[in-house]
Amino acid sequence: MKRICAVLFILLWTGITLQSYENRDTEKRTALFVWGGWEGHEPKKCVDIFAPWLEKQGFDVEISNTLDSYLDVEKLKSLDLIVQAVTMSSITSEQEQGLLEAVKSGVGLAGWHGGLADSFRQNTEYQFMVGGQWVAHPGGVIDYEVTISNKEHPITKGLSDFKMHSEQYYMHVDPINHVLATTTFSGQHASWIKGVVMPVVWTKKYGKGRVFYTSLGHVSKDFDVPEAREIVKRGMLWAAGCLNEKND
Ligand SMILES: [Zn+2]
Repeated sequence: MKRICAVLFILLWTGITLQSYENRDTEKRTALFVWGGWEGHEPKKCVDIFAPWLEKQGFDVEISNTLDSYLDVEKLKSLDLIVQAVTMSSITSEQEQGLLEAVKSGVGLAGWHGGLADSFRQNTEYQFMVGGQWVAHPGGVIDYEVTISNKEHPITKGLSDFKMHSEQYYMHVDPINHVLATTTFSGQHASWIKGVVMPVVWTKKYGKGRVFYTSLGHVSKDFDVPEAREIVKRGMLWAAGCLNEKND
C-alpha cells in the first residue's frame, strides 16, 4: 500500500522540491466510499459530509453505492482507505472476501454507527474485522453523554466530553479494541445495564489494516455536533495512515 504521507515527509526532509512531489500524482492518496443499506441512516447524506472534506485533504475520492466495488481486489488493495456506510443489507461471499483481503493487506477501513457495525448480520468474519456489532439502542433517540477516555490519541486529543441527542449504541465488542471514548448507560430504558460503560470510539488492526469505528452518526444531523464530526474526520485520516500515535 502506498504511504504517501511518509513519502511526502521524506521528500520534504531531503529537500526535494514540491515540484517533484506534484509529479508523483499517480501516488496520490485514494479513498473509496461505499454507501447503501437501510435508508433511515441517511448513508448518502453522511457520505456527502465527509467525502468532499477528504478530497480537500488531498485524497482522490471515489463514491460507490454498490458492494460490487469490493470485487476488484487488486484495485481495492491499491487504495489507502475504504469508508463504508451500509447498514444491515447483505453481502455476497465474493464481495466480503474482497473487502477482507484488502483490509488484511493494509488498506484502512473507517465507518460510523450502523454503516460499519450493523452491516451483514450473517457475516461473522466481517464482524471480527470491525471489532463490534450493534445489538440494541435502549430508549431509541435519547440524551446521552460521551466521555473521551483517551486524551493522547490523535483521534481524540484536545476534545472535551460532549452530549448527544441520538441513539446510544449498546454493542458486543472485541476485547482487542483500543477504546478512545465511551458512554455510560443510565439504566432508565433497560434497568439491568445501569452503569455499563460502552465503547463509542475505537481503533484496531485487522491483519495489516487499520480499522476505525465510532457508534456516533445515526443521522447526518448528528454530525452537527462538532466533536462527532471531528472524530470521524480524524478517524478516516488515522485509518489511512496519516495520523500516527506513539504505540500504534
Ligand atoms: Zn441508528
